[in-house]
Formats: sequence, structure tokens, C-alpha cells
Amino acid sequence: MFTAFLIKYAEIGIKGKNRYLFEDALVRQIRFALKPVEGEFDVTREQGRIYVIAGSAFDFDETVGALKRVFGISGICPVVIAEDEGFEKLAQDVTAYMDCQYPDKNRTFKVNVRRAKKSYPMSSMEANSELGGRLLDAFPELKVDVHKPDIMLNVEIRNRIYIYSDIIPGPGGMPVGTNGKAMLLLSGGIDSPVAGYMIAKRGVQIEAVYFHAPPYTSERAKQKVIDLARLVSRYSGPIRLHIVNFTEIQLYIYDQCPHDELTIIMRRYMMKIAERIGKETGCLGLITGESIGQVASQTIQSLAATNEVCTMPVFRPVIGFDKQEIVDVALKIDTYETSIQPFEDCCTIFVAKHPVTKPNLNAIKRSEVKLQEKIEEMLETAVNTADAVTVS
Ligand code: ATP
Ligand code: MG
Repeated sequence: MFTAFLIKYAEIGIKGKNRYLFEDALVRQIRFALKPVEGEFDVTREQGRIYVIAGSAFDFDETVGALKRVFGISGICPVVIAEDEGFEKLAQDVTAYMDCQYPDKNRTFKVNVRRAKKSYPMSSMEANSELGGRLLDAFPELKVDVHKPDIMLNVEIRNRIYIYSDIIPGPGGMPVGTNGKAMLLLSGGIDSPVAGYMIAKRGVQIEAVYFHAPPYTSERAKQKVIDLARLVSRYSGPIRLHIVNFTEIQLYIYDQCPHDELTIIMRRYMMKIAERIGKETGCLGLITGESIGQVASQTIQSLAATNEVCTMPVFRPVIGFDKQEIVDVALKIDTYETSIQPFEDCCTIFVAKHPVTKPNLNAIKRSEVKLQEKIEEMLETAVNTADAVTVS
């Protein structure tokens, strides 16, 4: 029955010039999301509304599923499109719609006609009351409630006629592409994919970096991160993932520095490299999956020590989340099952038995002096030899 969707989006903060940027980005993201869905879809913008019109047979659930991953959409309204063949035909179509959509008629309703086609020979008010009357005649159990109806039956009269009543909630947020780009430090864990999702939700395009340490971390660990990037890209759009070989740096730190400081020092170099790649690729911030107190390297002192090497803002959207709250999002966005696959993580290979939990920045910097001979060259090499893959 449905052959189109009216896309609703929040309009707060998108007045004036920004509105076009917002709508353009939204249309682009909708097209991207619908690409893998079978069927042909025309995404159109008319008179401040966005419609997705199916040009052929399509799978309703799959289409709605794809639209539910497009940030910026607040509601998805399945629409029946009818030809304008006079009021009698319209009354029949509206009655048939009501009958089919709501088998149980014990409800309240309101008809809401919008007449975008000004040549239509009836005013909106007239059409409202006439259609309402026809529905009451056809289904005597129905009742009108103009204030809080169970069913808001919308009828938009344009060149054709659009009938809809249901609003399926969208994900909210802003369309990706309306808020610049940031570099996600993506590991194989639960937290960083969630962090990337949350920042993408605010309209930020995601670029990602993964540090791997072959042969200490396997190809499968790397593949898991690629898989996670792909899962996040279902929401964010294509992600360019930079894969940095971190082995040499990690071994060098291991050889030169106190082992209880390894994790912190390693994390500082990860941030440095991420920032360098981020600068080259137009990113304006870094994103991590850190949460206060979760592990030794995420005490507030450790976070301060890690943060100290960055000049870009570091976005940590799960900073105040408990693990379970992060897991809940991971389950919702379908990254959880992949994240819990048991592959070694480059952070965990060289961890000390008793890592410092309250690192002293001066002590860390003194330890890093022992790296000065080779570290700069190693950083350069790591950045220059990084592989990049685009996932979507
Ligand atoms: P996650 O579940 O995201 O792996 P975590 O709880 O395991 O997080 P850590 O391993 O301490 O925490 O890492 C903290 C953050 O540092 C991660 O959320 C991620 O953003 C980044 N990170 C850690 N390891 C890597 C890696 N190998 N490659 C890229 N980023 C990493
Ligand atoms: Mg981790």
C-alpha cells in the first residue's frame, strides 16, 4: 500500500542558510543509506519537505530500517500516494486507508488536510469536515478528537495526494556532513565504536585510525576493527580507516621506559599519531571511547596525562557512562557481538601487572626523554606507512 515516506526532521537551529546545508546533507545521507536496499528510490525535496518515493517494489521493513540509521531524521511517515481524481475518489481512498491501517476502529481521529495545490476546488477546512464526516459514516465506532486524537490522518493535496498517519521515530541528531570531521581512535573494544556513533550522530563525519602491532596482534584482530568500522559506517556513511603499524614504537617504549608507565606513554603516542593523521586529513578533533575510571589508563590523572599531548579537542562522548550504559548502546547499534570477539588488542599485549593509576606528568615526561633518539623518526614512519581502507 505505501509507496513513499515523508521524512520529518527537527528544525531547531537550522533556519536560514543553514537549512539548505542541513537538507542537502540529509538527502545525501538518505540516498547513501538506501543504496543497499533493493528497489529504486527517488529522494526529493519540495516545499520544505523531504520525500522518499519508491519507484518499484521494495521491502518496507528493510527500507524503514535503513532510514532509521540516518541521523537528522526525527520521524519516518509511510505515505500512500493517490492520483487526484476528484473529491469522491479522495474520500474513497481515505476511507480505504483508514480501514486497512486501523482494523480496530475503537479510536479517536482527526483529519488534517494541507492544501499545497491552491487550485484545488475545496478549502482545507471544507475538506477536513467533509472527509471527517465520510469516515464517521463509514465507521461508526470512530470518534473525533481535535485535541489529542489517537490517529492524526494527514492528507496533503499536491499534484498528487499524500495520505499518512503513522510516525516511526528516527534516530534524531544531525545529518553527517553538517559538522565537520573528526578522527576516531578505533580499537576492537566495545567503547570506541559507540563513541564514533555518538559523535557521528551530531553530524560529524568520521575518519578512523587503528594501531596494530603485528605479529603481537593478528590479522583477525585487524579484520575485527575493519568490521567494526563498517558497522559504524551504516550510520555515519563511509569511513576511511587508517591502519598504523605500531609495533616498533611499542617495542621501543617497552625497552626504554619503566613498565608501569607503558600504557600511558603508549597512549600518548597513539594520540600524537592520530592527531598528525587527523591534521593531514582535515579533522578538527579526536574521538576516543574513554570513560572515567574504567581502567588504569582512564583515571582522571591518566586522562589528563594522555590529553596533554594533543592540541586538537578530544571528544570522549562516553566519558560519564557506566560500562553497562555503553554496552546498551553497542547492542542497539549492533556492534556488541563483533566487539566481544576474543582477539588480542595491542593495548593489552604489553600491559604491566601494576600500571600506574595516578601518573605524574613530570615523571612521564622524564621517561619519554629516553625515547628522544629515535622516536620522532619512528612517528614519521608510522604516519607515512599507514595503510588506509575506506569501508562502507
Ligand atoms: P575500547 O573498548 O574502545 O577498546 P577500552 O575500554 O578497551 O576501550 P583502552 O584500551 O584503554 O580502553 O583504550 C581507550 C581508548 O583508546 C579506546 O576507546 C580507543 O578510542 C583508543 N584505543 C585503544 N587502543 C587502540 C588501538 N589499538 N587503536 C586505536 N585506538 C585505540
Ligand atoms: Mg580497548
